[in-house]
Amino acid sequence: MPRKSSQLSEYRRKRDFRKTAEPAGAPAAPQRAGHLAFVIQKHAASHLHYDLRLELDGVMKSWAVPKGPSLNPAHKRLAMQVEDHPVEYNTFEGTIPRGEYGGGTVMVWDRGTYRPDEPMQGESDADAVRRGLRAGKLSFTFHGERLRGSFALVRTDGGPKPKWLLLKHRDADAAAGREITEEVLTSVATGRTMDEIAAERDRVWRSNRDGGEGGEEPADAPGTPDAGDVFVPMPPAPATGLPADGDWTFQPWRGGVHVLAFVTADAAHLIDASGRDVAGRHADIARELVSLAARTGRHFVLDGELADDDGGEPAFFASDILLDGDRPLMPEPWRERRAALQSLLRRRRLDRIRRPEPVTDGAALLRRVSRAGLPGILARRLDGAYTPGARTDALIRIPAPRRDA
Ligand code: MN
Repeated sequence: MPRKSSQLSEYRRKRDFRKTAEPAGAPAAPQRAGHLAFVIQKHAASHLHYDLRLELDGVMKSWAVPKGPSLNPAHKRLAMQVEDHPVEYNTFEGTIPRGEYGGGTVMVWDRGTYRPDEPMQGESDADAVRRGLRAGKLSFTFHGERLRGSFALVRTDGGPKPKWLLLKHRDADAAAGREITEEVLTSVATGRTMDEIAAERDRVWRSNRDGGEGGEEPADAPGTPDAGDVFVPMPPAPATGLPADGDWTFQPWRGGVHVLAFVTADAAHLIDASGRDVAGRHADIARELVSLAARTGRHFVLDGELADDDGGEPAFFASDILLDGDRPLMPEPWRERRAALQSLLRRRRLDRIRRPEPVTDGAALLRRVSRAGLPGILARRLDGAYTPGARTDALIRIPAPRRDA
């Protein structure tokens, strides 16, 4: 029986997990005896499509179906196989901002279990599905909340991105006159329409800038009145010396590129102060961030600095967290955000991503960065909020004393 590692190989190859020790993708869901999960997500990206995902061996085999499923046995729906996805992806519903990779709204359109139609004697459901997919013809029955009855996936073209057709078999659930994708317009999970999901502000994340797709109008500028759900960097306030009182943590300021990292299990965007996505120039870092999102099963937005580490290797120095899954953290005090950041990064074997050092002795750190030739340190007050686009006394930047002083 193929192991999960080989099942996820394409997913991992695309995302370059070679620098991590932990299994790529989210941990396998416990196998409920005899019940394999399926989910169909409606995804309004640059082109509307439906993502069909079938559980097998702890991952979700995935196809992008531009027209979605049909109950009409005469319809043959193109289904382009894409890389396996972690099981945790099944519950994702929300909006990715336009300009981001896969930008658009995702709805959980149907979910349930499925079973192969023709298991051989002694064969488990998973064995039969595996055999059908290998042979290029899988007949199976959906036990969904919207979809029921027998369907088939038939491979028509191999290669790295196999093309399949999704067909409805003639049975009691077939309905030649119906177009179920036009009848069923709401989320099976929340009852919301695509417009309602898109309008749900707390689940929206977006950078303040166009992420780089040509022809898109620029998104909101920093400091707009409704900036509550807009993620823009909090600039540090220049200071001349260490803070006199209050509880603070300190970290080196390396003089690198200040970015916000928008990360899902699909993609990472590293948006610099001018709104450019520099992820393409930091592909190893971007891949490791995506791997982290896949392994933790949650998307996030981090504040950090792209700079060379002490060994001269490029790295992402994480310094703050603005969104953790669906939890907005910007109004929270730094002590809360720091706990969330530590939770996200703890016990993870990381290569190009650096955790913030828990430094509370600012004077010692200032001496250290001065010896190392770094430009200074950043100080965050433990009770301070993250204020996008606005300098406050909760985040200050202190220059290192000149080494010859
Ligand atoms: Mn999709």
